[in-house]
Order: sequence, then C-alpha cells, then structure tokens
Amino acid sequence: MRILVVGAGPAGTRCALRIAGRLPRAQVVLAGAEPALPYDRVALSKYLIGEMAQEALVTHSLAALRAAGVSYRPATPIAALDLAAREAITARGERIAYDRCVLATGSRAVRLPLPGAELPGVIPWRDLAESRSMIQAAREGGPAVVIGGGLLGLEAAAGLAARGMKVTVLHAVGWPMERQLDPEAGALLAGRLRMRGLNIRMPVATAAIEGRERAQAVLLKDGTRIPARLVVMAVGVRPNSDLARASGLDVGRGIVADAAMRTSDPHVLAVGECAEVEGRLIGLVAPALEQAEIAAATIAGEAVAWAPRADSAGLKVSGTQVWSGGEVSPADAEAVTLRAGETYRRLWWRGQRLVGAVLYGDTAEAGFYQDLIASGRAVASRAGAALGQAFLKDAA
Ligand SMILES: Cc1cc2nc3c(=O)[nH]c(=O)nc-3n(C[C@H](O)[C@H](O)[C@H](O)COP(=O)(O)OP(=O)(O)OC[C@H]3O[C@@H](n4cnc5c(N)ncnc54)[C@H](O)[C@@H]3O)c2cc1C
Repeated sequence: MRILVVGAGPAGTRCALRIAGRLPRAQVVLAGAEPALPYDRVALSKYLIGEMAQEALVTHSLAALRAAGVSYRPATPIAALDLAAREAITARGERIAYDRCVLATGSRAVRLPLPGAELPGVIPWRDLAESRSMIQAAREGGPAVVIGGGLLGLEAAAGLAARGMKVTVLHAVGWPMERQLDPEAGALLAGRLRMRGLNIRMPVATAAIEGRERAQAVLLKDGTRIPARLVVMAVGVRPNSDLARASGLDVGRGIVADAAMRTSDPHVLAVGECAEVEGRLIGLVAPALEQAEIAAATIAGEAVAWAPRADSAGLKVSGTQVWSGGEVSPADAEAVTLRAGETYRRLWWRGQRLVGAVLYGDTAEAGFYQDLIASGRAVASRAGAALGQAFLKDAA
C-alpha cells in the first residue's frame, strides 16, 4: 500500500509514524511544505522567549524517520490532488501516486484585512520561519505591537519583551484570553503582565497599519497611533483547506471528515486542524494527535471513532501560572470561587459535576480538575473541590 501524508506538522508526522508502525510493508511518504525537519510547533513560544534552542525544536531526525519506515520530503507543498487517478501533484509538477492519502495541512494564522496588513514587518505568527523573523526584528530593536491578547498573542508579547522590545498588546475584548478566562482572572493576568512591563490596551479596535517600505505604526479607530517596527498578528487561525476544496473534496469550515477521519473521497482522510470532524474544528495539539492515531487505525482496517474531550490550555509564559479547562462561564452552570492571596480559582458546576475551571496563580491542581471534568464524576462537596484534591474526601 502506498500512503501519502500531506503536511508534516504534529498530526501528519504522528500519523505517518503510526501507519508505518502498523503496516510495515506500506510505503509511507510524508510531504511537508516547510523546509525544516518536523518540529514542535507548540514550543515555538519557548524558542521565541529564548528558553529553547532551534535545534531542540526538532522532534524527528531524517534518520529516525527513515528507521521508522517514513520517507520524508521537506519543502514539498502539494498543489493538487487528482482524486480519480489517486495522485497528488506537487508545486513542482511531480505526481505522487497513493492508495490512501491523509491530509494534515493544519491551519494558517489570520491576516486581518486592514490597510497596510501586507507591509513587511507584519507577521501573522504560525511557523518556524516567522518565529525567526520575529527574533531578527527584536535584534534590530524598536517597538512592537501584538494584535490579539489571546494565548498566542500573550506568548508572542512575552517573547518579544524578553528580547528587549517595547511591546504593546492590542486586544478587542475587555480582558485577555477571553476564551479561556473569566473577566476576573483576565484582570488579574492583565495586571501581572503590566507589572512585567507589557503595555496592554483593551478593548480597542485597530484601523490600519501605517508605513511606506515597512510597518511603522498601528493606527487605532480612536485615532491613537502606536509606533511599531514589528506587528505580530495573533487573532486566530483558519484551516488550510484550499487544496481539498480545489480537488473536489467536501469542505465546510474545514475538510469534512467523519469520526474515523474519512473525507468525502474513500481514499482520502483528514486529521488535525485542517479537518472538520463531525462538524467540529480543533485548535490544540492533543486532539490533533488523537485524530492522527485514529486515521492510522482506520487505514489499518480497524473500526475506530474519535471522541472529543474537553479542551484545556495553559499560558506558557514563565512566572505566570494560568490554566483553564472545559467550559468557561457557561450561562447554565453555578460558579464557586476561591480567592487566597495570589491564588484565584473559579469552578463551574452543573449540579455535582464539574464542567469548567479557571486557575490563576497556582495551577498545581490542573490535572485534578481536568480529570474531574473529563470523567464527569459526581462530587459531593463543591467547596472541598475548590480547595483541591487533598480536601476532597467525600466524592460520591
Ligand atoms: C506559537 C504557537 C504556540 C502554540 N501553543 C500551543 C499550546 O500550548 N497547546 C496546544 O495545544 N496548542 C498550541 N498551539 C497550536 C498547535 O501548534 C496546533 O494545534 C498543532 O500544531 C496542530 O497540528 P496540525 O498538524 O494539525 O497542523 P500544523 O501544525 O499547522 O501543521 C500543518 C503542516 O502542514 C503543512 N502544509 C500545509 N499545506 C500543505 C500542503 N499543501 N502541502 C504540504 N504541506 C502543507 C504546513 O506547512 C504545516 O507544516 C500553538 C501554536 C503556535 C503557532
């Protein structure tokens, strides 16, 4: 069997390795658009802030991939799929025949449609090359603006500030990380980041990026002008589904796939952030890897189905402990809040079941709350649960 995996991000790489492991006689080709060896995209934040060297980002060497039975083709963007012939066509016009093709093309960062958004010095942050450009801009110095105060935006801001830039974060909502945090935790986080030297402006609306040869300033709708040699856009992602759409596969918000990762073509599967699995898009690495495992099992002939779990995410900025899991501020749940010094916890309950949690200041109990949310276990003492695992003696 000839297997082609398109996209060497975490999902594609995991999938190619698992297929090669299950089907030792298959020819597995992993074609990635980026020139680098497969690397840990999540760790780009640590690379940017200077806590990790570029070499340490690499997750698999060429030799390791080869030894595992995967033939890796870097810098090989797939331009089209000929579904009838079962061939992929590379950007250079080469045809790669397959019996099964797995699309793992991920997402791209949204570039806001603002005047000046295409100027040099404006970077929607997603990959290694862009991270290197950001580090280079920091070396050249000057002020930076990060548009977007979500997880990615704050990590970008922390990284650039650590490299000596004067950073302003512009956020459209009244508190940062509004998808993961309630307003109170958001306010605590904003206060902490301001104390560490970040300038955070919110809620603000961005009107344009000004400059001639490169970005020089960001103009807000209220007329304020903020100088910026570097503008990082961290305002969300869009699934890379153009290839699938142009090839005639069903595409909704992402590449439409069922719970076994099969697309509308019986020989093509889709996994990770490019896929819309049973109507659901993902934006985190853990479910992308789970989907990769499911696709490999499907190709090996097993009957398997991906079951989504509650999302959780933490901020990877050292000195700031923030974690959130499950549903945040759901209207039909009751909140229990704990405040003690620098620690803030808010837990949302439907009856005796924990459905969401936000932790600020101390995230040591994150695993405990994550387990409670995932298991749906009934808890008799919600106050006990707020204090932590050691105080929860009376689980029902
Ligand atoms: C800075 C940063 C920090 C993050 N931190 C976290 C975190 O803390 N926790 C978390 O869960 N998630 C985090 N994420 C998100 C996480 O990286 C993604 O969820 C994960 O990478 C998704 O994996 P994927 O393989 O589906 O897609 P991607 O990682 O996007 O990989 C897709 C690959 O396919 C390639 N490709 C696209 N089109 C083609 C084509 N036509 N031909 C060949 N190749 C193609 C792309 O170049 C890319 O290399 C972070 C992301 C960034 C950018």
